[in-house]
Amino acid sequence: MLSTMQDVPLTVTRILSHGMTIHGKSQVTTWTGEPEPQRRSFAEIGARAAQLAHALRDELGVTGDQRVATLMWNNAEHVEAYFAIPSMGAVLHTLNLRLAPEQLVWVVAHADDQVVIVNGSLLPLLAPLLPHLPSLRHVVVTGPGDRSVLDGAAPRVHEYEELLAGRPTAYDWPDLDERQAAAMCYTSGTTGDPKGVVYSHRSIYLHSMQVNMTESMGLTDKDTSLVVVPQFHVNAWGLPHATFMTGVNMLMPDRFLQPAPLAEMIESERPTHAAAVPTIWQGLLAEVTAHPRDLSSMARVTIGGAACPPSLMEAYDKLGVRLCHAWGMTETSPLGTMANPPAGLTAEEEWPYRVTQGRFPAGVEARLVGPGGEHLPWDGESAGELEVRGSWIAGAYYGGAGGEDLRPEDKFSEDGWLKTGDVGVISDEGFLTLTDRAKDVIKSGGEWISSVELENAIMAHPDVAEAAVVAVPDDKWGERPLATVVLKEGATADYAALKAFLARSVAKWQLPERWTIIPAVPKTSVGKFDKKVIRRQYADGELDVTRL
Ligand code: ADP
Repeated sequence: MLSTMQDVPLTVTRILSHGMTIHGKSQVTTWTGEPEPQRRSFAEIGARAAQLAHALRDELGVTGDQRVATLMWNNAEHVEAYFAIPSMGAVLHTLNLRLAPEQLVWVVAHADDQVVIVNGSLLPLLAPLLPHLPSLRHVVVTGPGDRSVLDGAAPRVHEYEELLAGRPTAYDWPDLDERQAAAMCYTSGTTGDPKGVVYSHRSIYLHSMQVNMTESMGLTDKDTSLVVVPQFHVNAWGLPHATFMTGVNMLMPDRFLQPAPLAEMIESERPTHAAAVPTIWQGLLAEVTAHPRDLSSMARVTIGGAACPPSLMEAYDKLGVRLCHAWGMTETSPLGTMANPPAGLTAEEEWPYRVTQGRFPAGVEARLVGPGGEHLPWDGESAGELEVRGSWIAGAYYGGAGGEDLRPEDKFSEDGWLKTGDVGVISDEGFLTLTDRAKDVIKSGGEWISSVELENAIMAHPDVAEAAVVAVPDDKWGERPLATVVLKEGATADYAALKAFLARSVAKWQLPERWTIIPAVPKTSVGKFDKKVIRRQYADGELDVTRL
């Protein structure tokens, strides 16, 4: 028997029309580096999204499910593109501005992008690539930046504001199938070539509802969220969509992502929430330690994308800022888990839950798979690869125009679950603790050593700013850990003392015998530790390694 309920498609268009009316007064504030930030209401964003859609269709000839790319920071215009492009039935492709040039060229061709909307400040990055981007018919420029670098460029160049001016502020949005593509994002290629993940209207809608649940970020129209996580990195963790559902104000840093302007933004605009990867919070902590600022408005912070060292959580607790750990991937939209502890616990009892990656919401099913393909129990001890499935989890990668979707065996199980490549344990209460990425685990004499556990323990030392641990080949054990350490300003290296400190929390056989001080941990395009680079530097003899 079928239900008697209406079957209304779950679409980005619906999120837009709700946000711009019911929450029309909520605001997107964009940092400009000028005395006054730019402020735009959700109602204005909605009207301008309609104008953008008219311009894309009538002036630039975007039809059907053509791809429109963005090469932009987090700002109000990017939010307009987020809603205009999917709502008109086209597909938004957010380009990661930190990808290597050859990877950018590759993803634009693979997605067959027709138009790119670009921030003026990013033209020096785009202009030299244009001769290698034949699919692009139009370049639309917005915000400050020298346009002359585009002189002689092959595609037609337009000014965003001129393109919008005078166009109708309403659009007769088409009826869309909720399973249709709305947006796409390529993985940052930490582990190989970028792979295209295509989100549907339905997956975005359902994911946004989850982001808004109290067990996840739980924000309301009384909140302002500082969205540091880039809009080109998994849809800024779904925040632009989720905020339009509930009227949460957004504070957008544009290109001002350095610790000093972030601290200034927080003190003057007083956001109640923020979202970013751990390296941002490390940098901000060093900044406010040197130049104190009041961060206390920002009661809650969502931190994810890489493991958050417990020492960082403790440091922010002291500033009145609570970091809440979340795990996710480009393939999971990204919300997979969040570490909100269960009810009825004291602060001390909450701690063991807060340092996990968190628990799974109803929309995400999880299982752990052992080396022989066996399913492991949730006992907090059995470690295996995490596999997930759900309505906002990828079931394939984009195969390119005319190509079949890709389901590589190492990424999807035969029964359709996503193999995350992350290794960890799950407690009987459903809390996930990741010990490593499968390829970062250190396999020493048949035992596994977690690089993340060693890093967290080293980073708890007061002289250490950052630490990354990688596996290096070892004649006797197969692999052993190499500890690369970034010291805080003014601290001096004492390897024996660091090792003794580590021995307090880590089993003796796991202690690294190879140590090196480096000026900074190499980072990927989305600010994660780039262990590939460290392994290569070690192999090429570029690191000054001390053995003890
Ligand atoms: P890429 O795979 O290119 O780095 P993603 O942003 O999709 O791009 O990265 C997802 C990966 O990031 C996860 O598979 C996991 O290894 C790591 N990750 C995300 N959140 C966390 C977290 N809270 N703790 C540890 N690792 C995390």
